[in-house]
Amino acid sequence: MKDKIVVALGGNALGKTPVEQLELVKRTAKPIVDLIAEGHEVVLAHGNGPQVGMINLAMATSAGSDSGTPDMPFPECGAMSQGYIGYHLQNAIREELLNRDMQIPVATVITQVIVDKDDPAFENPTKPIGAFYSKEEADVLIETKGYDMVEDAGRGWRRVVPSPKPVDVAEKDTVMALVEKNHVVISVGGGGIPVVQEGNKLVGVPAVIDKDFASSKLAEIVDADYLIILTAVEQVAINFGKENEKWLAELNMEECNQYIEEGHFAPGSMLPKVKACMAFAESKPGRRALITSLEKAADGIAGKTGTLIKM
Ligand code: ADP
Ligand code: MG
Repeated sequence: MKDKIVVALGGNALGKTPVEQLELVKRTAKPIVDLIAEGHEVVLAHGNGPQVGMINLAMATSAGSDSGTPDMPFPECGAMSQGYIGYHLQNAIREELLNRDMQIPVATVITQVIVDKDDPAFENPTKPIGAFYSKEEADVLIETKGYDMVEDAGRGWRRVVPSPKPVDVAEKDTVMALVEKNHVVISVGGGGIPVVQEGNKLVGVPAVIDKDFASSKLAEIVDADYLIILTAVEQVAINFGKENEKWLAELNMEECNQYIEEGHFAPGSMLPKVKACMAFAESKPGRRALITSLEKAADGIAGKTGTLIKM
C-alpha cells in the first residue's frame, strides 16, 4: 500500500555544526529517498534545538559587542534555522534522488505555526534557550529585556521560553498544493515559527513549539496515513535504562496512557513523541505512528522493528 507519510527528523539526523550537518544529511537522505522510491508521498519535518541555540547565542553575543549587530528576536532566529537546515536537507535529498535517476522537486517552506495566545504554557515558561549567564547578568536581562531567567542545574542562569501547543499551520495550503504535485516538502522546521493571530497579522512570539507535536499536527493537516518519528533509539522502552528494560514493538492507547502514568517516558525527549503519536493515531481511524531510529527506518516501515502506536 502506498502511504502519505510525515517523517519527523530528530537531532541525530542533523548534528551540531554546519560541517557535521552537511555530512549527516547525506545519510539522512537515504531512508527518506527509499520511502519515495517505494512510491510513498513524503512530507518532512525536523527539530532545530542545537541550530537555533547556536544562532541565538551568536546573535546575542554579537549584539552586545561593538559590531553593531542588531538584537535578533527569537522567532527570527527560528526562521533562520529553518532556512539553514532546509538548505542542507533539500540539497541532500535532491542529490540522492538524482543519483537514483528520480526527477522529483524538493523544497523547504518557511513555516509559521499558529499558537493560542491564551495557551497556559505562556504562564509557565519551561524551555531553556541560548547562553548561560551569571546572576548579575541575568538580573540585567530580566530588567532590560523582560526575559524569564532560571538557574539551570548549577551551571548558570538561562533564559526560558514557553512551549505552547501547535494549533494550525499558517502555510498549510502551500504545503498541500506542493504535496499534491508530488513535490517533497520540508515544513514546520523546529516545530515551526510560533505566531499568534492578531486580525490579519501573524505576530512571532518567543517560544518553542515541540517538533514532535508540530509534526503530528502537520500529519493531521496533510491527511497523512502514517507519522514516522526518527530518533536516536530503535524502539520505545519501559523501564528505560534500567535492568528490567523492555523494548516495545506495539502500543495501543491504553498502554500508552498507563506507561505515561507510570512515568516511563522522559518529559523532554520520549514523552512528547509518544503523546504526538497518540494524538495522530486517535485523530482518525486507520492512522498509525511509528517511532524508530534513522538507521532502522526501512526495517521499521517493513514492520520488522520500531514501536508502532495505533488505536
Ligand atoms: P530527538 O532529537 O529525536 O527529538 P530526543 O533526545 O528528544 O531526540 O529523544 C530521544 C531520546 O529519548 C532517546 O535517545 C532516549 O535516550 C530517550 N528516552 C527517554 N525515555 C525513553 C524510553 N522510555 N524509551 C526509549 N528512549 C527514551
Ligand atoms: Mg526531542
